[in-house]
Formats: sequence, structure tokens, C-alpha cells
Amino acid sequence: MTDERGATLVDTGIGPAGGAAAEWLGTAGRLPSLLEQAGVSATEIDTVILTHVHLDHTGWNTDGVAPRFPQATYVVQQAEFDHVTAGPNPTYERQLRPIVETGRLRIVDGKTRLGKGIEVVPAPGHTPGHQVVVTPRAVLGGDVLVHPAQAQWPELLYVYEREPEVAIASRREVLELAKALGVPIAAAHPHTPLDVTSYGVKGRGTAGTGRGLCPSQRI
Ligand SMILES: [Zn+2]
Repeated sequence: MTDERGATLVDTGIGPAGGAAAEWLGTAGRLPSLLEQAGVSATEIDTVILTHVHLDHTGWNTDGVAPRFPQATYVVQQAEFDHVTAGPNPTYERQLRPIVETGRLRIVDGKTRLGKGIEVVPAPGHTPGHQVVVTPRAVLGGDVLVHPAQAQWPELLYVYEREPEVAIASRREVLELAKALGVPIAAAHPHTPLDVTSYGVKGRGTAGTGRGLCPSQRI
């Protein structure tokens, strides 16, 4: 998201070829070339919001030593920070510790307005401190849902949800929030933003075909 004062980035993706997430997923990230296409330089980014600290969302945070976005403040929830520092965590070591050591990490606790019409809202379950980002045009949902089917059937679980019941509750809340705001959910894994304005109108998971929310696609 850009305005005349700077740019905010939400999550930093898979990271370069040879990195942990690229090895896991079998594909390298494209963030630098996508930013170049968008005409945004690394030094213009003043805020990096991390929905959560998983390796496929933090892959370009640092080069392993220093922040890749040297002017940016990186934002995480307190519960997420506590979770990733509770024990050995290679993603923390490589992608967050350098941010901490350069004084560029901002830890927030709960719903927080960041300015420029952007607000972070906790949506735990996938991880303890997972958060979504509410903007005037979309809710950037991170991994609150990972497949369009979960917009129609929020009770569908994803294998990596740490606390399934909490994740389901968060998914319902974020679906209701996006519907109330009249904006789509742009989550990290589905390829296109999800229009959820009809969410819940006919009952959850019992009526309607779901086709509008659930086009066939790979994730
Ligand atoms: Zn994740």
C-alpha cells in the first residue's frame, strides 16, 4: 500500500532461491521483481506488517544479517513474538532477530491503528499471534484462510492450524468484519481476493453452491 508519505508492505513472502521456504515449497519468491514492477524501492517501505512469523511470510525480511527494508519498522503482535521466542526457532533467528537487533521491530498488543487508514486486528489460531490488516480497500488476511472454500465453510480446517477451534472463531470474525466493511479478503495463499459480501446470508455451509466464493484453483 502506497501513499505520498511512503509504503506499507504486508508479509515478505517466500524469499530467495535456496532459502528455507523456497526449498520447502519448491519455488523461489518474487517480491523484489514485483516491487520493481510496482515502482517501489526497498528504501521507500516505511512499514512491514507481519501477519505471523512463518517462513513463507517472512522470507525477504532480512538477508540473514540485516533488514532488507532498512527504513522500515516491522510490526508483529506480542503473542506472536512471545511464541517464536519461547524456544529454538530458525525462522526467528534468520528473519526476525536481525530486525530486533537493529531496533526496527515494533511489538503491538491487540487491535492497533497504524495510521494511513491501516489497522491490525488479532486473528489467532493459525499461530498464537496471527493478525490481519484492515485497509479501506481490503482485509489482508494472512493465513486466516488458505483456500477459498473456507470462506464458505469456515469450519474447514487447515492442517497447520495450531489451535483449530480458535482458528475457526477467528475465520468467522474476519469474514464478518470484511462483510460489514464491504471489502474483499485478500489472503496470502488464494490467488485472487475473495468477495465475501454475501457471507452468511443463507446460513453457514448449508445453502448455496459456494461457486462464487469457491472457484476451482490450486493453492
Ligand atoms: Zn502460515
